Amino acid sequence: MKKTWITVILLISAASWAPAQTVRWVKGNTHAHTRNSDGNETPRRVMRWYQDYGYNFLVITDHDMMTETASLDSDKNDDFILIPGLEITRSMDKLRVHVNALNPKRPVAASVVGQTVAQTLQNSIDAARTAGAIPQINHPNWRWSLTAEDLKGLSGVHLFELLNINRDSNNFAAGGQPGTEELWDALLSQGLAFYGVASDDAHDYLGDFFPDKAYPGKGWVLVRVSELTPEAVCAALDKGDFYASTGVELADVSVTKNSYSLAIKSLGDTAYTTLFIGKEGKVLKKEFGLNPSYSFAGDELYVRAKVISSAGEMAFCQPVFIKK
Ligand SMILES: [Zn+2]
Ligand SMILES: [Zn+2]
Repeated sequence: MKKTWITVILLISAASWAPAQTVRWVKGNTHAHTRNSDGNETPRRVMRWYQDYGYNFLVITDHDMMTETASLDSDKNDDFILIPGLEITRSMDKLRVHVNALNPKRPVAASVVGQTVAQTLQNSIDAARTAGAIPQINHPNWRWSLTAEDLKGLSGVHLFELLNINRDSNNFAAGGQPGTEELWDALLSQGLAFYGVASDDAHDYLGDFFPDKAYPGKGWVLVRVSELTPEAVCAALDKGDFYASTGVELADVSVTKNSYSLAIKSLGDTAYTTLFIGKEGKVLKKEFGLNPSYSFAGDELYVRAKVISSAGEMAFCQPVFIKK
């Protein structure tokens, strides 16, 4: 009898001690290279860089190879994880078709170069999905490789690099060429759920400070999760529960049936402008201050939010499709 009571008390105690699942934003980079491909540091030192600078997760994505990370566990703190990954790397003459496979459960089969860029992309996306990974289309404007036409018929992919912080990535519109943001709106305007990632595609870690090097710490994602695991982070990425940033930090992103609202974290004297953007990239509303909000009219098709700071930093929040 006594024993039974002790068991009951232990069960109650265990339940009350279970940690509450707190939803929070975790910071990470989904694209980085090491000496295993064309990066210039060891996996351990690359991991240490991101951990030391306050990131919560990193995906090491060497070209067509999985970098082994289990041996790095002893260097990790409790609030940092390494997510397995690789960059599926295909070329079509001068064009580059690169797709990250985030958190594969099985080896990623070599994808076949197709007759068209779209086929090569789809083959790489399928190789990632078949391995249980989340695909991310990389640097679409590097060598002006990928167009909206190439991307619009794809299936099984939501993530693409809106900002790849490499000099040659051509993120911004100029010279009559569309930037990646125009590419994004072209896809969203067709009702396609693409989510914009910012990533370092880091290669250079040695602090020599040349403008054409690919350094860490320039572009990242903040992902909303209730636990810091590869599965939780990748699931949130794949459903667009994150924002991309080059410095603007948000306390909250709130979407209800009626509105899209942000809470921007204040930093010194920095001033902020938020644009709520809809079909064809049209600015639906422009608002100053730390708590911008947009009320849905119902006929927008989609609404996304972009924050620009007086420091030149940005945050891109993901599109919400409006169901009439
Ligand atoms: Zn690449
Ligand atoms: Zn890369």
